Order: sequence, then C-alpha cells, then structure tokens
Amino acid sequence: MRQVKSCTPSARARLEGVTTATFGMAAFLFGAAEAGAAPCLSVTLTGTQGGPPVFQGQAGAGTLVRYGNDDNQCGSVFLQFDTGRGTTQQLSKLGVPVGRINAVFFTHMHSDHTEGLADMMQLRWHFRSQGPKVDLVCSGDAKSPFGHILSCDKYARHIGDPLLQSGEIAQRLAENKKRLSGGPANLLNVTTFDPAEAAQVVWSSGDVTVSAIRSRHIPGHASYRVDTPAGSVVIGGDAGNDNPKPPRAASTSDQVETLSNGADILVHSTIHPVMGPDRDSGFPPPIFYRQSTASDLGALAARAGVKTLMLTHLIPPMGAAKQGPYPIPGGALKEQDYESAARDSGYAGNVVVGTDLATVTLPER
Ligand SMILES: [Zn+2]
Repeated sequence: MRQVKSCTPSARARLEGVTTATFGMAAFLFGAAEAGAAPCLSVTLTGTQGGPPVFQGQAGAGTLVRYGNDDNQCGSVFLQFDTGRGTTQQLSKLGVPVGRINAVFFTHMHSDHTEGLADMMQLRWHFRSQGPKVDLVCSGDAKSPFGHILSCDKYARHIGDPLLQSGEIAQRLAENKKRLSGGPANLLNVTTFDPAEAAQVVWSSGDVTVSAIRSRHIPGHASYRVDTPAGSVVIGGDAGNDNPKPPRAASTSDQVETLSNGADILVHSTIHPVMGPDRDSGFPPPIFYRQSTASDLGALAARAGVKTLMLTHLIPPMGAAKQGPYPIPGGALKEQDYESAARDSGYAGNVVVGTDLATVTLPER
C-alpha cells in the first residue's frame, strides 16, 4: 500500500503507509485511553473516487477515523464518514471487520457517498445480528427548492428492501432464526440533526466528540469535526461556497473554514481548476461550482491553521483521461498537479493527495 509522501520535514503529523493490522474482537472501553497508554488518532481514506464514475477500482468516497491508544493500534472507537462503493472491502484490507464500526456519518445523500452502506449492513446482519447496532448520524429530511425531499432516515429504513423483496431475508431467516426479522435496517440506530450555521455536537463517546455544521452542496449537506485528546480531524465532504457561482471570494465553504479552525487534519473533496468552465472539458459549470477547488482548499487550510490537508474525492482521478464522459483539458493529471494547485495559495502544511487507504496518524511518534 502507498506510503504517503508530500510532507514537509517539520510535519507534526506522522504520515504513514497503511499496515494490515488485525484488530481482535475484544471489547475496548469506548473512547477512553487505557491507563498509561498514549492516545492516538488515525485517519484513513477508505475511498477517493470523486462522484459516480468508476476508475481503476478506486473505492467510493469514505474516511475511517480510529481513536484509541498505542496498546490497541488506535482501536477503541471506529467512525466511518460516508460509505462509498467498496467500503466493506477497503475495511477488510485494514483488518477492520464491519462489526467494529460504532457509527456511520453521512455528509449528504448522494450515492457515491452512501451506496456502500447496504453491503456493510447486510454483512453485519448476516453474521452479527445479535451484536450492537450501528449509529447512523445524518441530516434530518431536507427539502430541495425543487420540491423533492432528501431523506437519510428513509434510506436507512429501506436499506434492506431489495433483499426483503427478493425473498433472501426470509430464506436466510429460515436457516437462522436468531437473525433480526426486519433485515439489515434493524441494525441501524438512526440519529438525525438539523444542520445549522453553528457547530453542534451530534455524537460522542468517552473522549471522542463529533460536531456537525451546515454546508452547501445539496440540501442536507453537513461537514463534521472529530475532537479527541490525540488530535482533531474535519471531514468536509463535498462542501462548496454558499454563493453558488462566481463572483465570490472562494469556492470553499465558510462553515467548513470555521469548523477547521486549529484542526490537525482536514479531509476534503476536491476538484481541480482544470475542470472549470474557462477550460474546454465540457464539465457542467453548476457541478464544478458546487465543489471546492484544490487551490481554494489550500488557502482555507492556511487561514484556518490546519496542519495536514488530505485531498480526496479527486475530480478528475489522477491518471484518468476523462471524468465520466468529460475529457481532461491537457490530459491526465498527476499527484504534482493537485499538490501544486493546493500550494498556489502559499499553504506550507502537509498535503496528502489522496489515494485509497492513505493514512495519517496522530500524534507524530
Ligand atoms: Zn460526491
């Protein structure tokens, strides 16, 4: 797996390749560092694909945040932010069984961020129906200006519907009556909140606190911050500026900037400026404008004092000739193209141009 580069020598964050660690099933005390063991926070990009396209097997958007201590490889609390395509397989590469995930957080109800949950929950239902429920934390129902409703709650309640309809759930229940009769939806404990201008605590356990703030992309979009004794990480999701198009000061979200103030790590979806309407990709301007550019994210990270910027959900993927049907002006982008864009602002912190399973662990050893 990839060794993360692109860091300054003065980096506080320890940037590391991912090792395949197997976490035992012993129950650790949620959120509490064991006496004498130093707390640690580990942030892994489980998927870096931007949007619905597929490219060379990259997984869909998601970030795993682990908190614990040196004695359990940061393995007390497991939080998954978004569950794009292939999340379960990515977790298996990390040696993290889906049964260990304590909570899932959705930034918004787009399939490239949510579609992996059905797979994850069916697997959990199959083998651990009697195990703990998974907290699903997300925006309450959000009404679009077009009149439709975006509903995380309904998504969760219907997560197993195709398998109920096909008869598979009934068939497997006939084999094992200890499984929950309603299928995988029975294993989700949904907590919704109303995304607001000020950050609010939406989940906590022991030393770990997760806050959320409203941000713009589609109705109901939220960005999150995890605070722990080992450090803090913001997951911006696909946030863009409240002003949907230029003229505006930046493509980034003012709310994400507030949330990122003093954070150790910012994980954020990224679009490269080359996809802008001033070039000839044909990429739809409204979709370009509702993402944050790598250049503006570097500037945000500099203003907010973020130590490490992890670019993910890259539009376009590195090495791709197209983003979906849209050709990349000037040809495929490289890691350096994203890093250069992020540093245009003068940002001098660590830049991680995301690839699947890239991991940053705090504190630096
Ligand atoms: Zn997306």
